[in-house]
Amino acid sequence: MRDPVSFLGEEYRALVDKELDWRLRVLEGASRPRCRVDGRDVIMLCSNNYLNLSNHPKVKEAAIAAVRSHGAGSGSVRPIAGNMDLHIELELRLAAFKGVDASLVYQTGFAANAGLIPQLAGSGDLIVSDELNHGSIIDGVRLSKASRTVYRHCDHVHLEEVLTEAEEHTPPHRRILIITDGVFSMDGDMAPLDRIASVAAKHGSMVYVDDAHGEGVLGEGGRGIVSHFGLKRDTVHVEMGTFSKAFGVVGGHISGSKELVDFALNMSRTWLLSGSHPPAVAAACIAAIDVLETEPEHVKDLWRNTEYFRKGIQDIGFDTGKSVTPIVPIMIGRSAAAKTFSQRLYELGVFALPIVFPMVSQDGARIRTIMNAALTDEDLDEALCAFEKTGKELDLV
Ligand SMILES: *Cc1c(COP(=O)(O)O)cnc(C)c1O
Repeated sequence: MRDPVSFLGEEYRALVDKELDWRLRVLEGASRPRCRVDGRDVIMLCSNNYLNLSNHPKVKEAAIAAVRSHGAGSGSVRPIAGNMDLHIELELRLAAFKGVDASLVYQTGFAANAGLIPQLAGSGDLIVSDELNHGSIIDGVRLSKASRTVYRHCDHVHLEEVLTEAEEHTPPHRRILIITDGVFSMDGDMAPLDRIASVAAKHGSMVYVDDAHGEGVLGEGGRGIVSHFGLKRDTVHVEMGTFSKAFGVVGGHISGSKELVDFALNMSRTWLLSGSHPPAVAAACIAAIDVLETEPEHVKDLWRNTEYFRKGIQDIGFDTGKSVTPIVPIMIGRSAAAKTFSQRLYELGVFALPIVFPMVSQDGARIRTIMNAALTDEDLDEALCAFEKTGKELDLV
């Protein structure tokens, strides 16, 4: 008789043979610009903790105080007995920060995309997605009964062609939902959200932006991509984001109209059927918003470090691709070279992971770095030295 679970080992070994398996590194202690990974002291260049808020005393103290006052867990899902005053306060604070009518917090950003997208568009509708959107959007779209199509990456002209063609469809689509990442995490480039919003308005389509890498980074005081482009709130119907990146904690959210939040709350199965955040998470997120509102220096430092590092990398002779954000890819080419590069950097005390095929094209392998507001000039200079040394060793510069 055949072993019913033999595929587990077989498929895993096939990944190992192709070097496509994840070999997890262990972070020993806090995620900081200088930290310890697998027993080695390194400069951290691949965390999403853009503003170092996970280590901010206000944020940490808020979490500790909430455990004391509200306990370790919430006891339930939000719609039953797990809707705490802290969750409501977080949503009010977030909506005020973003300048929208209402916000809804999900357990994670992934849960927001997977829970809401299939409800916004269903049978008889059409979802039009940027071809390089994040995996959580792809899964949200797969859960939907809507028809789906993609437009070329960041190409609003192609988007308009797709929408024009969609208007010929019989029977007509009930609704059309356009979805895009705000900042794309492989290249650090930005969606032309202003163009997308005006094309959408012309065709009467909804716009949904996933601002996971834009909030805390772009716009006035880190208010995100809608603020960056100075768009009117009613031209982008859903702003989705995460507390797990620049906010330094964990959790997802959507922001927009009161109707959007009422709808999302009643329809998203991930929201209705999964336990709510522990009090410490909600309180830490509130404190992170507080810090963003009162200490503008963190976002400024992030951008200053980004300009300094990107220029330093380019001066060495590396190509940083299309990056216009604190995500700075260093283009290497072949996967094997990118892997060797990352390993060599680690030995030199710099932690930055390679992004290789199939996440990017065969010859598009890169080292992806993500800047942090709390990196010092000394950290950045040391990192740049390691890049230069490794680049020369491998004959890349
Ligand atoms: C990280 C990320 C998510 C998922 O957010 P989590 O809160 O970590 O689940 C969703 N979309 C994009 C574009 C992301 O980069």
